[in-house]
This record gives sequence, structure tokens and C-alpha cells, in this order.
Amino acid sequence: MTCNECKKYIKDFLDDSLNYRHTVDFIEHVRSCEDCMEELSIEYLVSEGLKRLDTATSFDLDTELHDKIDKSYNKAKFYKNFLFIIGSLIVIFAFLFGFFLSTLFAY
Ligand SMILES: [Zn+2]
Repeated sequence: MTCNECKKYIKDFLDDSLNYRHTVDFIEHVRSCEDCMEELSIEYLVSEGLKRLDTATSFDLDTELHDKIDKSYNKAKFYKNFLFIIGSLIVIFAFLFGFFLSTLFAY
């Protein structure tokens, strides 16, 4: 993922509307790119800070952002692996079914 693509996805990531494929790429990018991580932190501070102006409790947005990144990453990774396993099972069953059919009509 390029920095431009990454910056385009920041808002979707913060809204939890980024799909799992993009989430994995997005998080891998921000973890390795200081610029995009900084951009993400700023956007997060602004959006969360504004939401919580009314509730004047203290909060640690930096930790919260990292929690959010970790959770989203684990969830997206899990989902990606899950779909991969389901996809593999479908291929295996299709193969077995084809094999089964070919033995039925072999004679
Ligand atoms: Zn970047």
C-alpha cells in the first residue's frame, strides 16, 4: 500500500468501515511508516477529542489508538484466515465431489 492510499483509508479505518482486506494492508503500512502513523494519530485525536469534549473525563487517546489498531488487526487477520480456510475447503470438496462423480460414471 502506498502512503497516498493509506491516507485515503484513515477516515474509513476510524469509522470502522474499512473492509478486512484493506484493514490488514492499512495497519501493516501504518506500523512501518512513521508519516502515516502520525497522520492517523492526528486524525484520531481530532475526531475522538471532539466527540468527548462534553464528557470532561481524562483519557489516553494514544493508548486507545494502539488498542484499536491491535484489535482491528487481529480481527481482520482472523477473518482473512477464516475465509482462506473456507475457500480451501470448498476447493477440496469440489475436487472430492468431482472424483466421486468420475468413479460413478467410470463404467
Ligand atoms: Zn505511509
